[in-house]
Amino acid sequence: MKYNFYAGPAILPREVLEEASQAVLEFSGMGLSLLEISHRSKEFIAVMDEAVALVKELLHVSDDYAVLFLGGGASTQFAMGPMNLLDNSAKAAYTDTGTWASKAIKDAKLYGQVDVIASSKDKNYSYIPKGYTLDSSYSYLHITSNNTIFGTQYRQFPEVGVPLVCDMSSDIFSRTFDINKFDLIYAGAQKNMGPAGATLVIIKKSALGKVTREIPAMLDYTNHIESESMYNTPPVFSVYVSMLNLRWIKNMGGVVAIQKLNEDKAALLYNEITRNTLFYSPTQEEDRSFMNICFLLHNKDLEKEFLSECKKAGCVGLEGHRSVGGFRASVYNAMSIAGVQVLVDVMQEFEKTKS
Ligand SMILES: *Cc1c(COP(=O)(O)O)cnc(C)c1O
Repeated sequence: MKYNFYAGPAILPREVLEEASQAVLEFSGMGLSLLEISHRSKEFIAVMDEAVALVKELLHVSDDYAVLFLGGGASTQFAMGPMNLLDNSAKAAYTDTGTWASKAIKDAKLYGQVDVIASSKDKNYSYIPKGYTLDSSYSYLHITSNNTIFGTQYRQFPEVGVPLVCDMSSDIFSRTFDINKFDLIYAGAQKNMGPAGATLVIIKKSALGKVTREIPAMLDYTNHIESESMYNTPPVFSVYVSMLNLRWIKNMGGVVAIQKLNEDKAALLYNEITRNTLFYSPTQEEDRSFMNICFLLHNKDLEKEFLSECKKAGCVGLEGHRSVGGFRASVYNAMSIAGVQVLVDVMQEFEKTKS
């Protein structure tokens, strides 16, 4: 058993993996694997319905919104969002807070005017830009709620008088928030929800039907809403395991309880990074991510040795992204506080042997 600190595909609860593995062998008493049944069977439709219902329940999503499970990853949403929400002659505001935000900006430019109204590129994306205002002529403001690579996160969402569109790939279901500020939320499953394959989309129905362009069928939210995420064959395994994971979150006490655990884990690790004389954090304190915790060694020459100590203790996936360097501990929902404590113990032992 390893402590999985990978940024994604990410850790899933053991009991979810066990139940998923059973369903691969035989699903719902059908004498068939989940992977070989029709997505239109009543058994799989029940899975999809429960997944959608759990998303609505856990995030308090009203009937003004549609909940979809699509293919293509969060990256497809970089284009699909503006294709459906931004008319050629209209403009959208974007904040540039890292690699994923930059990719979203690049694709949006294909569909309308895009104004990058704030960026933290000047300091290698180590903070969340704030203090801007917007006029109401923007169709939406796009933000990336958690910057998986750079380890920053919006603690509070901007109040700018236009609807928000948000890439929540790496922190959805990690904390509570008010869905009603958003026209569109999307998230690839494989960070904090389930295995790779499905992309969760929560779209405000009244935001649709306002663009004049023709939209290819697979990229039109309206088609997916009408066919309840069954316009084509959905990524059934990813939807099923995501559903099991959402059940797990509910059994843990819902997003409120999960948030408390995540805050405790993040506090434990950030406190150690601050206290430990060998390490430091590259991110501005008030914007630090509770999901992806970046940290560096003052003495870079010790990096390999520290990673090997982590591996010996069973902690894997701690290499930082090449654009930040150092280390990144991803502490998604399924990471236990005990797992974080093991990492903290390694850091403390390392300090003793090096100072
Ligand atoms: C991983 C990630 C993506 C890309 O997700 P795919 O599902 O692989 O396309 C987009 N945005 C954020 C914030 C991510 O962490």
